[in-house]
Amino acid sequence: MANAFFGGVHPRDMKAATNEKAIQQLPPPPEVVIPMSMHFGAPCAPLVQKGDFVKVGQKIGEFRGLGAPIHASVSGKVKAVEPRPYSMGGNMMSVVIENDFKDELSEEVKAPADPDALSVQEMAEAVKNAGVVGMGGATFPTHVKISGGIGKVDTVIINGAECEPYITGDHRTMLERPEEIIGGATYLAKMFGVGKVIVGVEDNKQNGIDSLNRVIAEKNAPVEVRALACRYPQGGEKQLCQAITGKQVPPGGLPSNIGCAVFNINTTCAIYRAVHDGMPVVKKIVTVAGSGVAEPKNLECPIGTPVSRLFDECGGLDEKTYKLVMGGPMMGMAQYTAEVPVGKGTGAMLAFCADEEQTVQDPQCIRCGKCVAACPMRLEPLFMYQYASKNMLDELNAAHIMDCMECGACAYACPARMHLTHMFKYGKQKLKEKMAADKAAAEAKKAAAEKKEAVAK
Ligand code: SF4
Ligand code: SF4
Repeated sequence: MANAFFGGVHPRDMKAATNEKAIQQLPPPPEVVIPMSMHFGAPCAPLVQKGDFVKVGQKIGEFRGLGAPIHASVSGKVKAVEPRPYSMGGNMMSVVIENDFKDELSEEVKAPADPDALSVQEMAEAVKNAGVVGMGGATFPTHVKISGGIGKVDTVIINGAECEPYITGDHRTMLERPEEIIGGATYLAKMFGVGKVIVGVEDNKQNGIDSLNRVIAEKNAPVEVRALACRYPQGGEKQLCQAITGKQVPPGGLPSNIGCAVFNINTTCAIYRAVHDGMPVVKKIVTVAGSGVAEPKNLECPIGTPVSRLFDECGGLDEKTYKLVMGGPMMGMAQYTAEVPVGKGTGAMLAFCADEEQTVQDPQCIRCGKCVAACPMRLEPLFMYQYASKNMLDELNAAHIMDCMECGACAYACPARMHLTHMFKYGKQKLKEKMAADKAAAEAKKAAAEKKEAVAK
């Protein structure tokens, strides 16, 4: 490996339960609940009403400002347009569709006559119309990343690290759908005008690397696979950029600041389907695993499928299950109900039994410094914890807490089991609130001064 990022940890990968099992199609659910927010940005406005009939791939939500459109994932009748439980907490306006099991494709879905003849603008437009977002969990609208990066980005990276424990959906995609990945990467090379796209894959997926290399050779594609030594959080955008290019994203910056754009493996497949077939994002591959799951699997299901159906398909939940997590164990979100739907960014649903919990009452920092050594952003978690817990927001800001990616590496390394990541989420929220209040106060002061000046004139 040429380069490495600072810090990181080596959690047990726990991938053996699913990494040799082929992706299975979930039997179609009788109903899907499609939230109008499955992307970074403002929620979409619903385009359908109760009683409407919709077909697969039909646009049912339009974005405003930063966002991506949302499409029906099954055909059938719109049963309701109303707030429903949502994976990010609380309720979200959702389109509920009663599946008619006809699986009728919308007339809106049109494959181009010759995808290879499309211009860069036409390809970017196809990605936008298909509602593609970062499907590794970030859910940033992909068309914005593409259009904002053209002319500025000279290194396009496909993120095949899949460094979170348990999750194997990207690995299985490398084995089962390498043509889509290489096809999508080739379209990205054309859109960004780069000679080669680099796929970064952790070296615990050697058969995935071989599978991609076979297709690259067959198609003589402008793609290169780089094997990366396993280390969490290799799949963090900034860490992957450093591992691939040796360049560091500056504090507060983005990969584009160093000429990089990063796309997840399944995002790349979605780009391929959007450009080649005109097909919107209507399905998602989800790893269902953890000690509370009888038979862990990788399932592909329509967007909007309640996660309870995924657990049912895996033999149901163990009665000792005490925690459900959407996403990986390091960065995922705990869920209070299994009725939340699968979204575009849902890569895993994990269920854990009570005897896995390793918390301590009233943890005390022993100043060992292990959290500092583990932090890939070169932050000082032990001090950030003190500042956040005491609401010392100026000090927290000066400690660069906004650069914390909430990866959980510090909490994993901490022998005292301090609730570091939780405290940083809280601290960031408090700091954002203070920044917003300061901004509002400054604007009010400025407006009052201008008014006074106008009166004086
Ligand atoms: S959670 Fe934040 S502070 Fe902790 S290791 Fe990750 S980036 Fe660093
Ligand atoms: S790893 Fe935990 S105990 Fe050690 S310095 Fe950091 S917060 Fe304190």
